[in-house]
Amino acid sequence: MNDTHAESALPPQTVLYQIATGHYFSRALFLVAKLGIPDLLAEGPRPIDELAQETGSHAPSLRRVLRLLVSIEILEEHEDGTFALTSTGEWLRAGIPGSFRSTVLLLSGTSIQEAWGELEWVVRTGDPVFRKRGFSDPFVQMAQDPDAAANFDEAMAAFTKIAAVAVAAVYDFAPLRTVVDVGGGNGALLIGILRAHPHLRGIVFDQPHVVERAQTQIAANQLADRCSVAGGSFFDTAPEGADAYLLKHVIHDWNDEDALRILKRCRDAMPEHGKLLIVENVYPSRIDRSLESRGATANDVNMLVNTGGRQRSEAEFTALYAAAGFTLTRIVPSPIVSVIEGVRR
Ligand code: SAH
Repeated sequence: MNDTHAESALPPQTVLYQIATGHYFSRALFLVAKLGIPDLLAEGPRPIDELAQETGSHAPSLRRVLRLLVSIEILEEHEDGTFALTSTGEWLRAGIPGSFRSTVLLLSGTSIQEAWGELEWVVRTGDPVFRKRGFSDPFVQMAQDPDAAANFDEAMAAFTKIAAVAVAAVYDFAPLRTVVDVGGGNGALLIGILRAHPHLRGIVFDQPHVVERAQTQIAANQLADRCSVAGGSFFDTAPEGADAYLLKHVIHDWNDEDALRILKRCRDAMPEHGKLLIVENVYPSRIDRSLESRGATANDVNMLVNTGGRQRSEAEFTALYAAAGFTLTRIVPSPIVSVIEGVRR
């Protein structure tokens, strides 16, 4: 795993060809997810003409695109010309537990793809793409497209649901009574933690139009008696007096200056004994060819392009905590994401 290229028997030109054509596959994956083809295949194999008819497509062209995905084991084509989902393709179905559809729509969707098209501009200027487009903040830009914003929340929540189980298991929530999830999105993290720890109460804090969706999730999980929502901007305020302030995949969206403003608002809102719990992955001290390094660098450059934020190393978190008036006390790892704990200095 540590030396994928050397271990593979492929000629270097083939390796480069595969990387250079990666966008062919991601565009095809996006299209198939968008057209809902995985849902049409949920009950089993279907002929191309039916798939084309139900998705309003040109059958011979659709077949060629589906075959691209056959070549990378997302779909399979049977002798009789029907197409079916592989065990990987199954996860593109909508609405199933663990569905990856919204994540594919987000990561290989038009907004992120077009932003990566500006990579040269980003590297020359050091600015994220939303600045070129005249927006003050990436989330202000996203709010202009309600479908994209709803899909973003869904994609975050799908991952966060799994992360919540891991965080609830590795971090000791027993000494805490109240927790605020700052920039908590759909509430998936707090919901997962409250379900695992029945003594806890919590508040999901996010932009007003986002917490509306969190409220629905809280009610659906029968947690309305222990969990509420608050709408506002974390640059201005945070709900007061909780024992801990969770920030999952929020701080990586922002540069150090903005991240400090958010952390200071949390510090202002918390009691003396309050804890800061940033839930994110820590950027490795050395990049190698592991999946961890690939994930960290991919996420980091995606933040560079799209939000102006970054993935931070332990040393960078330590410095950020100190600048915001916290001491980084420990990093509690889980198989999915780490909890980076801080206390007030
Ligand atoms: N913590 C969630 C969502 C992370 S995405 C999770 O991990 O699943 C970042 C979140 O920050 C989004 O939900 C977004 O709405 C929120 N956010 C962005 N700007 C904000 C602001 N100014 N005030 C409050 N929340 C904001």
